Amino acid sequence: MRKQKQNAKNIIKMLKFVYRLLCRVVYPECCPICDEVAPQQLTGDGVARICPTCRPKVTPVQTPFCMKCGKPLIEYAERVEYCADCKRIAHEYTQGRAVYVYRGAIIGTMHRLKYNHRQDYAVALARDAYERLGSWIERIAPQVIVPIPLHKKRKKTRGYNQAQLLAAELSRLTGIPMDADLLQRTMDTRPQRELSASERKNNLKKAFQMSKKSVQLEKVLLIDDIYTTGSTVDAVARVLKSGGVRQVYVLCVCIGGDKGEE
Ligand SMILES: [Zn+2]
Ligand SMILES: [Zn+2]
Repeated sequence: MRKQKQNAKNIIKMLKFVYRLLCRVVYPECCPICDEVAPQQLTGDGVARICPTCRPKVTPVQTPFCMKCGKPLIEYAERVEYCADCKRIAHEYTQGRAVYVYRGAIIGTMHRLKYNHRQDYAVALARDAYERLGSWIERIAPQVIVPIPLHKKRKKTRGYNQAQLLAAELSRLTGIPMDADLLQRTMDTRPQRELSASERKNNLKKAFQMSKKSVQLEKVLLIDDIYTTGSTVDAVARVLKSGGVRQVYVLCVCIGGDKGEE
């Protein structure tokens, strides 16, 4: 019985591998929203990007956005600098920016990147991040790019860490080295979305640690796929700061919208 289970597991693993290979062949450079190969991708520079048909289906973060977390701000009567969340919470990180608002078609893309083995999306999404936020990265000049780590058990079942794929591509585009081993996720925490705000904070206490005792890093750029309340990046920033890092910046592909004052 156990052997049969193991065999089935191996077959599934192999099928997943073949599926991934086929995706690479069939969709070498496809749009991460509709999975079509856009005409200019066939004739142009051949790089993956969101196709013209899908552009209106996604919402890039535009000004005004929160000066702390990068969330787009709703229309307030007067000009404000921070979103309602950041007015309430004293974040551990220095500043964050995001590429897209987490609504519409990008939700499906992020889901497929994370759970459906569409690792190839990371290239197009990181390219978008670089196009929109490259000058910001240049200005903050981090010494190293660090992906938010997954617990090794979760990484083993998923086969990859989507944040690391995004970070690797951003590292290639910016020339800033990536260090995917600087941090470790020591606890396999419950998914943050299932918890309340205070549970989230507790859930993440001691969830991360630095694998190197002393690092001489002034500035670090953290990479993650989706920013919601910032409790994950805050937990990581706390660990990095206690390890001597002075400034922790955050780049996420997607971010929620400002909910306003409650
Ligand atoms: Zn498309
Ligand atoms: Zn904010």
